[in-house]
Amino acid sequence: MPREYTYGPFQSRRLGLSLGINVLAKFKLCTYNCVYCEIGLTEKDNLVSPNYRISLPPSPNFRKELKSIFNYVPHLNSITFGYNGEPTLNENLVDFLNIASDVRSELNWTHEKPILTLFTNSSTLFFDEIRERVKKFELVLAKLDVANNDDFKRTNRPQNEVPDIEIIIESLMKLKQEMPKKNKLAIQILVYNSYKKDFLPNNNSKNIYDVAHALKRIKPNIIQIYSTARIPAEYFVFAIDNERKKEIGYIFKEIINDDKIEINIY
Ligand code: SF4
Repeated sequence: MPREYTYGPFQSRRLGLSLGINVLAKFKLCTYNCVYCEIGLTEKDNLVSPNYRISLPPSPNFRKELKSIFNYVPHLNSITFGYNGEPTLNENLVDFLNIASDVRSELNWTHEKPILTLFTNSSTLFFDEIRERVKKFELVLAKLDVANNDDFKRTNRPQNEVPDIEIIIESLMKLKQEMPKKNKLAIQILVYNSYKKDFLPNNNSKNIYDVAHALKRIKPNIIQIYSTARIPAEYFVFAIDNERKKEIGYIFKEIINDDKIEINIY
């Protein structure tokens, strides 16, 4: 049976053995055009408003595809939604989640059952109905690479109807408060450098301090600091080194000052 929805499983730095699920079309659809995107630039017609919705319900093949793959990987760690762009743009996201949860419960796993994980770029979380859907995932990996509008425009290059970064920070605060205690919110921060002299990357101290203060307000369960690992959309982007990642970790720890929040570096 040709694969329609799944990628991998891959060994992921943050999730262990992870099976990727694409709930969008075969082309990238996103509200951002991040300079570091590892799936390439967002084409003009596919850079969409956070109001934009597609309706792509799972076909019967989704259940079959999951069942056939799960049998080969009884040690899978994560069923991870979010490839090819922003998965919350699909109105039917929860239908995919329910089927995955259902199929997961039918199998015998050798270790703990794989966690149901969602990647989101956070741009649609200001809608109540989107947070309602997102909070059902056991682990939400939400992007916040920047915490001021200048860095936001440079790094994530949002579509022009995406709200200001402050609205996004407030919606992440709401999401954390609304999530059931058994589910976890991880904020992922990708920090990069630039070879281009006139391009300020998000690895600038103002942005790092702004992100730290935003994280202190959001109070996520987990903070993940990482950098690019594959070819970025823009040629001038390159990864920060491990020393800098550690330094950012110390800055966050000092400002956030909350031992309950896990800070992980990848
Ligand atoms: S939000 Fe994700 S998919 Fe969209 S452009 Fe940025 S990195 Fe790529």
